[in-house]
Amino acid sequence: NRQITIAELPKGTLTEGHFAAADAPMPEPGDGEVLLRTILMSIDAANRSWMQGATYRDAVNAGDAMPTYAICEVVDSNSPRLSKGDIVAAESVWATYVARPAHKCQKLPDIRPLSHLMSVYGIAGKTAFHGLVGVGRPIAGETVLVSAAAGSVGSIVGQIAKALGCRAVGIAGGAEKCNWVVEELGFDACVDYRDPGMGKALRAACPDGVDVYFDNVGGAVLESALFSMNTRGRVVCCGAISQYDTTAPSGPRNLPGLVVVKRLRMEGFIVMDFADQDATALRALQTWVGAGQIKVQEDIVDGLDAAPGALIGLLGGDNRGKRMVRVGSD
Ligand code: NDP
Repeated sequence: NRQITIAELPKGTLTEGHFAAADAPMPEPGDGEVLLRTILMSIDAANRSWMQGATYRDAVNAGDAMPTYAICEVVDSNSPRLSKGDIVAAESVWATYVARPAHKCQKLPDIRPLSHLMSVYGIAGKTAFHGLVGVGRPIAGETVLVSAAAGSVGSIVGQIAKALGCRAVGIAGGAEKCNWVVEELGFDACVDYRDPGMGKALRAACPDGVDVYFDNVGGAVLESALFSMNTRGRVVCCGAISQYDTTAPSGPRNLPGLVVVKRLRMEGFIVMDFADQDATALRALQTWVGAGQIKVQEDIVDGLDAAPGALIGLLGGDNRGKRMVRVGSD
């Protein structure tokens, strides 16, 4: 067995030196537990935010193995709930093998490739669906703006918006990525937030203003987006990636002023809040994927030891679509 722990909590930018990889004893499943072999581990911006302290889950501390959502195979079972060979999703850690209580593992439907259960049919797809449909509630003809548009959640948000008959506009880093968002994902436009002329470009890309802004990044990008919002627009607060890997203070400076004047609704959500509607989300996503209206974008990095680099790279924007690490074969 091998696992990756946090050697030291970062104060500023995350580096490889904040992690330590080492061989570890093979876990022994106790009563009611199963032994899991890791197949895929989700790499999430949230991994970095957990290093900043407790949020909707416990803080991650130095010495801990990095927590992760993982897809695993049951290789040994001390529970009648699960059998050897079952494929499950579990809250796990960066390791090749873990022992977990069987009741905390979720047996997965027979969908292949398994990576789709981590991307479009996993947390990324559900976050995009519930955030856009459940919180943003766009109407056909409206303009939906989404940041981190080439990322796992953002790439799906824009494609759902198109499927619902909306104008989809992305925000992403760099001209090449923006081009990809339009050409490959089918967004109507995409604006480069690193370009100093972003505000003007945003107004040009959204001639009728923005009705729903799906915010994955917070900070300066949110500040710019608020200026483009229409009266009674909705801002879906999904995450604040611009604030996870830094200690620098950040805006927006136009809050609450613009929320008042434009009568905006800003609402945060956590994907688990909508668990009772996951089946609806899955059906809709399967329909759109089947009809070619959602192109599934996956960014798979090989090998457990590559996980720290994969997370650091994600924070720097080197992923397109859902990033995950393949630890073992399907
Ligand atoms: P993504 O796949 O979206 O990758 C993150 C992207 O963020 C990068 O590719 C990068 O693209 C962009 N980015 C990085 N730094 C900045 C910055 N300073 N300003 C603007 N963009 C930046 O990652 P995740 O899918 O893990 O996360 C997307 C968002 O969804 C996060 O905010 C996360 O916290 C949130 N989330 C929320 C959930 C919920 O329940 N509310 C559940 C799951 C995720 P670029 O090259 O464009 O900069």
